[in-house]
Amino acid sequence: MTTRNRAVRTAATRPGERGSTPVRLSSVTHRYGTDGGLRSRSERAVTALEEVSLAIGAGEIVGLEGPSGSGKSTILHAVAGLLVPTAGTVTVEGADLTALSDRERTRLRRERIGIVFQRFHLLPSLSARANVALPLVQAGVPKKRRRERATTLLERVGLDDRIGHLPGELSGGERQRVAIARALATDPDVIVADEPTGELDTATGRRVLELLTEIGRKRAMLVASHDAETLAVTDRAVELRDGRVVSDGR
Ligand code: ADP
Ligand code: MG
Repeated sequence: MTTRNRAVRTAATRPGERGSTPVRLSSVTHRYGTDGGLRSRSERAVTALEEVSLAIGAGEIVGLEGPSGSGKSTILHAVAGLLVPTAGTVTVEGADLTALSDRERTRLRRERIGIVFQRFHLLPSLSARANVALPLVQAGVPKKRRRERATTLLERVGLDDRIGHLPGELSGGERQRVAIARALATDPDVIVADEPTGELDTATGRRVLELLTEIGRKRAMLVASHDAETLAVTDRAVELRDGRVVSDGR
């Protein structure tokens, strides 16, 4: 184990935090465009989140609702360690993501957080199995074990007859199930899902949702959606408006 790795593990297993509150955001504010990352000169800094505090308990599925632009994806990206907020802290299993180095944060994301996107984000040139196995390549798992684990996960999401198919040969619902299997590859503690049924028809979306909730109950899950059916299966819905929490239905 490297020193860096040990540092992450130690922070992540601080007594009293693990298990009780897998995810906690404290006074998180995020402004895009304040670090020179503006997409064009005409663009101004945008305050996407303002003093957001939010906690997710073990086994809890929390829905994030709010109109487009209210900050849902920004929260998910902060929890997934894909961005570091301008202010505030984000802890996942006791590790403060905002205090980690980029490498530590990337490592924590790869090992402990599963991410499901609206548009699947599968690599088109890789088979379903190779897509699912990809996080395990990054985690250094030997090839034989990767293949076994990916096959097991694809069976679990009902795709045992699609293992060798490319994403382009799969339906939207099948692609999302591959993406869910990929999110589970490293057996993460936390799942974040950004409008996971947004591209799917109602019946397919319902099946994907059943699968996600079954998985989320065993971990902790944060799911962004403006779909009533998705929000109905959550334990609690947090409502956002203009980057602020306006209700937290605990
Ligand atoms: P939602 O997921 O609820 O639609 P987002 O979190 O994507 O909301 O966006 C919140 C706000 O931040 C919006 O005003 C959006 O335009 C802005 N925003 C999102 N991503 C970026 C970015 N990369 N650069 C600048 N502004 C952004
Ligand atoms: Mg979004």
